[in-house]
Amino acid sequence: MIVIMKPNATAAEIGAVIRRAESLGVTTHPIYGDNRTVVALVGDLTRVSRESFNAMDGVNTTVRIQEPYKLASRTTRPENSVIDVGGAVRIGGPEVVVMAGPCSVESRDQIVETAIAVKEAGAKVLRGGAYKPRTSPYSFQGLGLKGLEYLAEARAVTGLPIITEVVTVETLPMVAEYADILQIGARNMQNYGLLHAVGKAQRPVMLKRGISGTIEELLMCAEYIVSNGNYNVMVCERGIRTYETSTRNTFDLSAVPVIKHTSHLPVVADPSHGTGYREYVPAMAKAAVAAGADALILEIHPDPDNALSDGRQSLSLTDFRKLMADLRRVAEAVDRVIDGEPSAEPVAQEETAQVA
Ligand code: PEP
Ligand code: MN
Repeated sequence: MIVIMKPNATAAEIGAVIRRAESLGVTTHPIYGDNRTVVALVGDLTRVSRESFNAMDGVNTTVRIQEPYKLASRTTRPENSVIDVGGAVRIGGPEVVVMAGPCSVESRDQIVETAIAVKEAGAKVLRGGAYKPRTSPYSFQGLGLKGLEYLAEARAVTGLPIITEVVTVETLPMVAEYADILQIGARNMQNYGLLHAVGKAQRPVMLKRGISGTIEELLMCAEYIVSNGNYNVMVCERGIRTYETSTRNTFDLSAVPVIKHTSHLPVVADPSHGTGYREYVPAMAKAAVAAGADALILEIHPDPDNALSDGRQSLSLTDFRKLMADLRRVAEAVDRVIDGEPSAEPVAQEETAQVA
């Protein structure tokens, strides 16, 4: 249930609503929107009567939330959530944010070269996996801490914030030290221990849809993170498993408008994992922007054919630059913007040398 306060409700009136709800054994989440404050009541509501809250000073009305996810629901918060990434980038606003980088961090040179290309193309966030959840235990598992250190070097060279995956609760404190955005991968969507832990972390989170996860399950998993206190959650459509074998996954583009309709959380689209083949990535990246995605996450590589993971779906740096130009035009057509000019000036190589 949400208690919608009157526009001029005082802090004391909001406090009284919170105290009454908590005295009934319910957890409260005050949500301060641009136009209204609501207090979301979650947990066992059997002892809560709407009438008693409706009668309280400063209360406009109460509404039962029909969806099983409460805090992530658009009924609770009608405005889009906008996530501030370290003061540098805002995800969920008018700008469509492009995040790009290799599937895995492979070496210092590989990630720095890619980061410079990401920056020069006008994308805003560098991706790169240091801890890789791989289908086979014999496949490259990532460079671990060394990979995080190389990502930090690439950030120092370019100023780009970084997104990287966290795969276990044990490694979360270390990954959070380096990451500007924590990625929860598809295989961990329902790893509830990890969801609790990132819910307590002081970092934005990108939660990827599980390989066989429904949209509702994805939003319920987001709810785990938000209900633990971390409101900076974006959800990512990365394709789901179906009977279709022409693509690696079936990129469920309709998830974008569905989630935008039912939730206020920003939606990211990952056409790289969504299709699995680099020749299909540009079409689906453009389609995702047209469909209303707030951000894209793209796999790119200086030498895709020799990448240690997901080379088949990785764009070359040249193809990525071309795609960025096309994406700008699509964004404009749907009244969005891909900010950040592609730079004419290459990022100075001396800056590379300054990195400790
Ligand atoms: C990745 O981003 O490289 C990745 C492993 O993605 P997913 O969890 O969607 O498979
Ligand atoms: Mn990958």
